[in-house]
Amino acid sequence: MIRLTKIIKINNTKKYFILKHFCHTEASNNHHDIIVAGGGMVGSTMALALGKNSILNSKKVLLLEGRPQSKIAISETYSKRVSAITPSSVELFESLGAWKHIQQVRYAPVNCMQVWDGCSDAQITFNHDDFENLAYIVENNLILQSIEKELASLAAGDNSSIKLFYGAKIKSYDLPTSKEGVAKVTLEDGTTFTCDLLIGADGANSRIRNAMGVHYVHWNYDQRSIVATLHLADDMPNTTAWQRFTPDGPIALLPLTSKLSSLVWSTTSENARKISKLPNDQFVDAVNEAFFKQFPRDQLVDNLSKGMTDLLTKLNVNQNNNVRQLPPQIEGVDEGSRAVFPVGFGHCSNYVNHGVALIGDAAHRVHPLAGQGVNLGFQDVALLTKLIEEAVYRGSKIGNFALLKEYERKSQINNVPTVFGIDALHKLYSTTFMPLVLVRSLGLQAVHSLPLVKKLIMKYAQR
Ligand SMILES: Cc1cc2nc3c(=O)[nH]c(=O)nc-3n(C[C@H](O)[C@H](O)[C@H](O)COP(=O)(O)OP(=O)(O)OC[C@H]3O[C@@H](n4cnc5c(N)ncnc54)[C@H](O)[C@@H]3O)c2cc1C
Repeated sequence: MIRLTKIIKINNTKKYFILKHFCHTEASNNHHDIIVAGGGMVGSTMALALGKNSILNSKKVLLLEGRPQSKIAISETYSKRVSAITPSSVELFESLGAWKHIQQVRYAPVNCMQVWDGCSDAQITFNHDDFENLAYIVENNLILQSIEKELASLAAGDNSSIKLFYGAKIKSYDLPTSKEGVAKVTLEDGTTFTCDLLIGADGANSRIRNAMGVHYVHWNYDQRSIVATLHLADDMPNTTAWQRFTPDGPIALLPLTSKLSSLVWSTTSENARKISKLPNDQFVDAVNEAFFKQFPRDQLVDNLSKGMTDLLTKLNVNQNNNVRQLPPQIEGVDEGSRAVFPVGFGHCSNYVNHGVALIGDAAHRVHPLAGQGVNLGFQDVALLTKLIEEAVYRGSKIGNFALLKEYERKSQINNVPTVFGIDALHKLYSTTFMPLVLVRSLGLQAVHSLPLVKKLIMKYAQR
């Protein structure tokens, strides 16, 4: 500004030109083809996928994230927050060059999964023999760090068109009401940016979703998830993910190392409050009890389940071993690794509007029982990137409404059955009402006996 005033005093003719030029530069610096608002795991991956796409690499992309850039030094101690990542998500990371950073540090492959009902003998197992590496357990901060590493080197490139802005707390959004308009983003410090396409990746409490005014179906479960890093009593090959549905909610153990597993225990809010505050030894007892305790059983359910097992065996359908493997005994918990998270359901009727699209938890939120939440977000990333690429290749405008509607249609075909299916599963297993326990037990036994059906389920979950 001072520089401008000086010029104005020296030369009146030049003044007008320079002032105009200055304003133009300012405006174009703040205009981007695409702004990704929210740099969590999903938003950061979106920015990286756009930045690495050869057809889109001339497009100006800006990532805005409210927290400071993560300076995560991965320590010996495992982080309390981990995610089960599907092979498709790993493929996406590989294609973006981020998986190698994870490989260099650590991850745990899951070769077997055992899920069983606390109220009956019903169980299902998915084995490595049938499906190579069912999932991978990776710490959330390692995922983020690996993506940010790639993003940083991309942004540092000479002709980079990608910009990263951390500590950028977004205050408000003005969204276009027609195909002509641009989206405007205002930060808390008053800085504004505009863009042709705003991608909302600002999580379950998305402000962009609110600004869009779309219908959002959501509720909180009366449950909270306790997470912690647990020490196994025995050093053992630890490649199985265990999940038991107790009457209060599912408890899961995810492998980390031969001596460590990660706990995700969803239980009533009241229980979670109590359990999370127990002294370490009592906490460990509570975890072991949740895995091994006999809950009250119904005689009819037990008899009919046994009858079904006998019948399947006679029919020679039951090829599977019905002997239940036991989860490892827990002997300790990492100091300070316990944390409690609310769990809820959310789904937007519309993911898009003129010049704006939602991805990740901003568009859909699920119970952690199926380990699908962030994987659905990564699928949104892959799909939206592909559609933007196609649009640009055809010479269409980036925020083109037809393109966005196509994204919404295709992602909802994938997401809607999954999010409502997970909610139905949660409801089915949250009851001890005998007829429902019977239905779910017989259903689980039947599926367990049918390798083809299991294969289809697993294929669906891994996509
Ligand atoms: C206990 C638990 C276990 C889970 N386990 C799994 C699992 O095993 N597998 C799985 O697939 N999923 C799992 N999930 C779900 C998964 O954690 C979420 O789906 C995922 O974190 C969502 O990522 P996101 O990037 O969409 O949103 P978020 O992680 O919420 O990121 C949103 C980002 O936007 C930023 N932001 C928000 N508002 C603003 C603003 N106004 N200005 C600037 N920045 C802003 C935030 O700082 C944040 O970085 C689990 C969830 C829980 C609770």
